[in-house]
Amino acid sequence: MARLVMKFGGTSVATVERIKNVARHVKREVEAGHDVAVVVSAMSGKTNELVSFVREAAPLYDAREYDTVVASGEQVTSGLLALVLNDMGIPARSWQGWQIPLYSDDAHGSARILEVDGAAILAGFEARGEVAVVSGFQGIHKESGRITTLGRGGSDTSAVAIAAGIKASRCDIYTDVDGVYTTDPRIVPRAVRMNKVAFEEMLEMASMGAKVLQVRSVEIAMVHQVPTYVRSSFDDPDNPNPGTLICDEDEIMEHQVITGIAYSKDDTEITLREVADKPGVAASVFMPLAEANINVDMIVQNISEDGKTTDITFTVPAADYDRALDILNRAKTEIGYRALQGAKDVAKVSAIGIGMRSHAGVAAKAFKALSEKGINIRAITTSEIKFSVLIDADYTELAVRTLHSLYGLDRG
Ligand code: ASP
Ligand code: MG
Repeated sequence: MARLVMKFGGTSVATVERIKNVARHVKREVEAGHDVAVVVSAMSGKTNELVSFVREAAPLYDAREYDTVVASGEQVTSGLLALVLNDMGIPARSWQGWQIPLYSDDAHGSARILEVDGAAILAGFEARGEVAVVSGFQGIHKESGRITTLGRGGSDTSAVAIAAGIKASRCDIYTDVDGVYTTDPRIVPRAVRMNKVAFEEMLEMASMGAKVLQVRSVEIAMVHQVPTYVRSSFDDPDNPNPGTLICDEDEIMEHQVITGIAYSKDDTEITLREVADKPGVAASVFMPLAEANINVDMIVQNISEDGKTTDITFTVPAADYDRALDILNRAKTEIGYRALQGAKDVAKVSAIGIGMRSHAGVAAKAFKALSEKGINIRAITTSEIKFSVLIDADYTELAVRTLHSLYGLDRG
């Protein structure tokens, strides 16, 4: 007998009919003798609708009230699933974030989890043999007592944090795909579902654009060593597939050099032309951006031809593009550059694999393959287990397919 967390995303709870299907998955685990906490998202599309109501009500909204409104989608699905389970003869009780409580900081709209008190859920298991149905996405800020939300896609993070909080033996994330693929199967139909992927690789894949899991959920799974499965709620509840296990790298016998290719079209490129080539200039460019909480990712600084000036190119998230340009415009005399240029039609394509640690020349091979397809690389970054290239967005699919084949990931 084990303690489990099962999480169901928006498409899995999109209608009452689907919630009944979710209940059948829960029933299977309860009947196997497990103690189960279920974490649910809002019905698909609901959170978007709530966000649009907030924007309509007040374009410059107060983030505390935004959280009050958008957290409500999950309250509905947790109550409905508890009703359906009870109706099927399985004792169940709903829990909102504040009732658990799941404490977060007060960064309303994308709050970070600080602490999960598992006691109430565990008491329900013990005293009443009760399934806990928890609203994902929600937290509470202890000092102010206000409801918070954990950022879009935050139910994944609720689930893993609750798994850590109640010391569950695993966390199953049920979604509309049957696992984690070597790349997006919509772009590469020959992408392969992985049986296992290491925490670190999954963290890079999620950070670099793979949309299956919220990045923070993988961080928490890694830190607390929660074995986490990504699997499908559309499988037959009586005969489901295990999906993809995200686990410690030591549990994976064979490491390929590259395990996955991710892409993101959410980046934009900014170039400062003819910046003075002297100490302190990079700081004058990047400090004001950091102060505005703008995350700079790739940075390229060219060597200057004349020894006096240089060009600096970097990327920022698309959502921060206008703000970044505005900040740099205002700091023009202080930084001292000739021109400011931006490009929105760029994409970042990344190759990820723990095997890169012990192999040389992995990225070089990619640069050659991309050049043979006529794809120009605008910027490059590398880390121990990943490299990324910034390219014209029009070439995204071609680049992903090229790298997927190059590293032998296509299904045979
Ligand atoms: N309902 C929230 C969202 O759409 C949280 C989640 O689904 O994970 O972002
Ligand atoms: Mg999600």
